[in-house]
Amino acid sequence: MIMSLIPLLPVFHKFNRQFFDQSLTTNREPLVKVRWSDNRLKTTAGFYKRKQLKGVIDSEIILSKPILSKLSCNEIHSTLCHEMIHAWVDRILNINEIHGPNFLSKMNEINKAENNFQISIRHNFPVERKALKYTGKCLNCGEKYMYRKRIKNIACKKCCNLFFNGSWNKKCLILFD
Ligand SMILES: [Zn+2]
Ligand SMILES: [Zn+2]
Repeated sequence: MIMSLIPLLPVFHKFNRQFFDQSLTTNREPLVKVRWSDNRLKTTAGFYKRKQLKGVIDSEIILSKPILSKLSCNEIHSTLCHEMIHAWVDRILNINEIHGPNFLSKMNEINKAENNFQISIRHNFPVERKALKYTGKCLNCGEKYMYRKRIKNIACKKCCNLFFNGSWNKKCLILFD
């Protein structure tokens, strides 16, 4: 089945007017790119990212095609709006926070004004997670931990905290079988 995806830019412009006082555009040009992901983004419903190249900030909102194409418009709108708040905190307020006080107060303000969807801190949509199928064992204390993949050079947090002032030490490496 081919899923049709709603175009995101018109919604971006609408929210930009409604909730962000048009601050996320200059001369109708979005300050951030907005696009759908390819089919591989299955771990999160959407995210905001920024790069800085030679002093020029390049930021982008990416929404997950595989996750959101199965959900309703309201869920897409809620996710887009969530990511727009991240963009606004970063690009307009110039504050480095994730779901901090500025994010939350904007979120609450929008939630009060909006009837069709609500934004939350967590995207609580069905997200495909890989199974925890790898067992790692601490070289020092023998405690076993489960992981989604084998990770090189990680140490047992408990032992690091107990014996090495919280810093990484190879005596408590986690070994995978
Ligand atoms: Zn977020
Ligand atoms: Zn340990």
